[in-house]
Amino acid sequence: MNPSMMDLSLNFEHSYAEQLPGFYVSHRPTPVPQPSLLQFNTALAAELGLDCEKLTPDVVEQIFSGNALPRDAEPLAQAYAGHQFGNFVPQLGDGRALLLGELLDQSGKRRDVALKGSGVTPFSRGGDGKAAVGPVLREYLISEAMHALDIPTTRALAAVATGESVMRDSRLPGAVLTRVASSHLRVGTFQYFAARSQDDSSRKLADYVIQRHYPNVSQDTHCYLSLLKGVVDRQADLIARWMLVGFIHGVMNTDNMAVSGETIDYGPCAFMDAYDPNAVFSSIDHAGRYAFGNQPTVAVWNLARFAETLLPLLGNENDEQAVADATAILETFMPTFQNHWYNGARNKLGLAHGETGANASEAERSLIDDWFELLAKYKVDYTLGWRYLADAAEGNPCNLRSLFTTSTDVDNFLERWRGLQDDLPSSNVATKMRATNPIYIPRNHLVEEALSAASDDGNLKPFEILLQAIRRPFTEDPTLPQYALPASAEFTANYRTFCGT
Ligand code: AMP
Ligand code: MG
Repeated sequence: MNPSMMDLSLNFEHSYAEQLPGFYVSHRPTPVPQPSLLQFNTALAAELGLDCEKLTPDVVEQIFSGNALPRDAEPLAQAYAGHQFGNFVPQLGDGRALLLGELLDQSGKRRDVALKGSGVTPFSRGGDGKAAVGPVLREYLISEAMHALDIPTTRALAAVATGESVMRDSRLPGAVLTRVASSHLRVGTFQYFAARSQDDSSRKLADYVIQRHYPNVSQDTHCYLSLLKGVVDRQADLIARWMLVGFIHGVMNTDNMAVSGETIDYGPCAFMDAYDPNAVFSSIDHAGRYAFGNQPTVAVWNLARFAETLLPLLGNENDEQAVADATAILETFMPTFQNHWYNGARNKLGLAHGETGANASEAERSLIDDWFELLAKYKVDYTLGWRYLADAAEGNPCNLRSLFTTSTDVDNFLERWRGLQDDLPSSNVATKMRATNPIYIPRNHLVEEALSAASDDGNLKPFEILLQAIRRPFTEDPTLPQYALPASAEFTANYRTFCGT
């Protein structure tokens, strides 16, 4: 059965389809028996310039379940390859997702609108092409949390239950997520064409990515090297931002790394409670490849795979030169990451007054290193550790001390920290710190509670309360005291996350 056509235009454009023929397969979503709206992101819809009057709940249910297509949608499944846990798979592609089209948002930025869980495509490789309510709402919640934390990310526009069940370990209610992204172009997209030695396609793709995401480098003599540098810089910034809030992506395969610099593909991701550089929650990450502290190293590894795909475009007759140029750029990742990491940590410590632009000093870096060592030694809750420092800035170190089993180490740290602070009123420092250090993150136990209620009982209330908290992560809500607290150590010790939306 095909989706019906709706006499409605969403002002879709199709630059990917038009400029990159051969990079996708046109394909329609599979209609579902009984769509019912779980969640719609009206703020994002407004940002996208969608006409909310036309988007009645009934229309939203029909379009964003894949049951009906607006007349200007041209659904397609994108081709990509990827290294999964280090092993190259030459063909992955959208096995359960379809790009409907692109919108120019209110600020003129081009955004993809895509369904996820909308049925099989030519890339499904034996999968069912579907998604379950729990993982769909998980991606919705965590991507909204990341956005509120000022971390580049794909967004969630809608979640619609399908009225049919999907078979995973057990039968689960199905759903479709509508994802909005500045694009869905991945390192794996480049790998698809490089693996087939299709240099012309690689060049077209690189030109498209430059035009869409890095227009400032289009006139550079060595524009493909500049593209590599641009992607390296954005990833270095992104990974530092993740790590400064305790985010573990969990499945940093090259097909899950967007060249735009947005976080993409929320599968087995998690936020840490107690600080632990070795933290891993994904049930399939046995070797800890994607552990919290490995993320910068893995990012460089992925970027090296990206660089390899660009080598044929670097225009040097002498291949050694191309490799040397690309390597020199890859080597900038770690120092760039470290600058973002230390400068971000310095901000979170309330130390960056009056020094905007300058990098953290040696003394600040050493204080920051010692702070992380203390957090690890005492297994301190990562979110509250930072947040309670703001209280300490105002002369109330009790909350912070309560996170440590002894107070000597933390008191010594506080003394050094105060020594590095500017002479500003302490309330100013604390206010600034509270605007940088969230009180609410999507705590794993709260996420699981909210998803079980929605998936098992059809009760969206806990999801909505949690969504409301994580959308204002820096503002304490006195009605939600328990939302700021970590799970029990026992919950965290046994917590596992799973792939598959
Ligand atoms: P992911 O783990 O979401 O990054 O997906 C990796 C690859 O598996 C992508 O090519 C997906 O399209 C494909 N895939 C994941 N789940 C399904 C599914 N239920 N049906 C078909 N393809 C899937
Ligand atoms: Mg993926």
